[in-house]
Amino acid sequence: MATGAGRVSLHPFFGHPELQASLSKAWAADSLPSSMLIHGPRGVGKQRLALWLGQLLLCPESGPTGPCGECKGCRMLLTLEHPDLHWYFPLSKPRGVRPNKLAEAMEEARYDALAERRESPLRPSSAANEPTGLYLAVAQTLRSQAQRRPAVGPRQVFVIGDAETLVPQESSQEAANALLKILEEPPASTFLILTSSEPGLLLPTICSRTMPLHLPPLQLDRVEHFLVEVGGISPEDARQAASLGRGSIGRALGFLPTDGEAGPLETLRVQAFELLSAATDSDAGAVYRKSLELGTTRSRGLMPLFELLEDVLRDLSATASGTPKDLINRDQEDLLERIRDRRDIHPVTVAKAFGHLEDAKELVAGNVSPQLIVAGLLTGIREELIGSP
Ligand SMILES: [Zn+2]
Repeated sequence: MATGAGRVSLHPFFGHPELQASLSKAWAADSLPSSMLIHGPRGVGKQRLALWLGQLLLCPESGPTGPCGECKGCRMLLTLEHPDLHWYFPLSKPRGVRPNKLAEAMEEARYDALAERRESPLRPSSAANEPTGLYLAVAQTLRSQAQRRPAVGPRQVFVIGDAETLVPQESSQEAANALLKILEEPPASTFLILTSSEPGLLLPTICSRTMPLHLPPLQLDRVEHFLVEVGGISPEDARQAASLGRGSIGRALGFLPTDGEAGPLETLRVQAFELLSAATDSDAGAVYRKSLELGTTRSRGLMPLFELLEDVLRDLSATASGTPKDLINRDQEDLLERIRDRRDIHPVTVAKAFGHLEDAKELVAGNVSPQLIVAGLLTGIREELIGSP
């Protein structure tokens, strides 16, 4: 996938040829709306599809079979250098910047992030602790860019990844409203493509002004194939990562190491198993020690960990039912069997433990301390799985 002067180009959008065909036909027939919202699970490739749509709209040779893939426009797009493709995504706010310089600083941070993505397009998004968002300054930059004329072609395309992060941030309403203004009166040459894995968090007015486009997860063998063929991952690691990734290439990549360091989701997966071990430890104090270890994590940051704990509990249930071939965490079969045998775990008690996880997920949205949430959750799971001490 390397091109010319050491530039790496985007990996192909993968696994949805029917969807691409119908979008290409709609574009050729001039029936593609100017505002679209791609939604679907995290990491399935929504922003990659949005970039492909950008290529479709900006390639002068695009036809019913899609963009040509060879012209200068296509080549610039695939190396993220097309001047009429503007890709925005959540970033952390630079520190110590005066409010009047914020928009400029956020643009610099965005260019830096784009340069990183240009160099390693398959880099998994890190589970950074820094809060990120599409702040008001970014929405304003976007709005003023939308008023300008396209640089080279007849139109410009804006891709806005994780658009729901316009909402839960400070001065969020203003940021969302700034975007809304563009959606209400889009300049004729402007196309907006939003993506979101939590479209329920978007302003209803944003949803109602965009055409929804659902991107479902892929079948596991397609993810596995992609990881081997495009990612250069060994078949064994690819199989494990595809299983953990639940049909999402982005998620699967999060379990694989980069530059010798464990992937961010792999680190969390280890933690999820530690939570189960604490909840089934013969020493009841393990639950509190584990909860305190979490330090100052923000409550909302617990969500990815809880999603992984859900997989761990599902696997414990499969192990207790004697169906280990269905495991998501295929490499943990021995550990799960040990816990089942030592604690005499029954599928029914595991099913009850899920209820505590659902309760904990609801608390995450509120203002409860993360240590309290985890201590309550593990105590609840412990009571279901092995009874009160
Ligand atoms: Zn082209």
